[in-house]
Amino acid sequence: MYEIAEKRKELKSLSIFVGTGKCNAKCPHCAGVPLRKYAPKEDGIVDLDLIERILVQCYKNGARYLSISSSGEPTLSPKSITKVLRLTKKLKKNGVSFSPTNLYSNGIRIGQDEKFTKTYLPLWQQLGLTTIYLTIHDIDERINAQKYGIAKYPEISLIIKRIEQANLNIRANLVLSKESINTCEKFIQTSMHLKKIGINSISAWVIRNSQDQVDKKLCPDKKELEKIAKWIKNQNLDNYIRLLIGQESRKTYKSGQKLTLFPDGTLSNTWCNN
Ligand code: SF4
Repeated sequence: MYEIAEKRKELKSLSIFVGTGKCNAKCPHCAGVPLRKYAPKEDGIVDLDLIERILVQCYKNGARYLSISSSGEPTLSPKSITKVLRLTKKLKKNGVSFSPTNLYSNGIRIGQDEKFTKTYLPLWQQLGLTTIYLTIHDIDERINAQKYGIAKYPEISLIIKRIEQANLNIRANLVLSKESINTCEKFIQTSMHLKKIGINSISAWVIRNSQDQVDKKLCPDKKELEKIAKWIKNQNLDNYIRLLIGQESRKTYKSGQKLTLFPDGTLSNTWCNN
């Protein structure tokens, strides 16, 4: 358990786990699985007192960015997400304001369920959500489906369109892996294509295993990662693409600037969802 008191005024961001832990994908190395036993069994069950206490405490200690994550897919727990966003709106009136407020998603429900999208995305935007963090393994939807362990992945351009229609920003979380984006050339093609079809920014990191550690077997070749880093720097794309590789990516977590509220109520700096 991380003690906020030790790091007063040094926090930057807070990530909270919300929702049941159900997921519509079956990624083989899902780091959420070990945490699901602590998640509520039904959508709409949220410990709002705990979340309010943590939000206020973290805000007082400097946190201004909020991310909503889950041990499953957050869009499958829309009532819980709505309750948390209503809470953040209420806190904002009292001067406890987080911006940006981000929601992680694999995009599957957004692309497949128009009724859900039209009901919840505009509502969440009104309640203060600013950005969807969309995890993408490949711009080829067939490869994306394979990586997610599902039969069919929706068109990425449709997912983007639906998010844009709700006036939300979209950050693509690109997973670099030997089995998908594995070379600098592929990375350039992917990131430029995503820019063209409406992605506002990219955060890229190497694939992790179920312990939330870099998966050494599936990690792309070190030389390719170095080429990617060089290319981003030379193109002056730092504002569009953040490359989080190696120990560098964990620095802010280790320093305690980013905290995560886990489904069992633990507040810790050990999770690395960027
Ligand atoms: S989409 Fe996320 S939560 Fe669902 S199985 Fe994959 S990694 Fe786990």
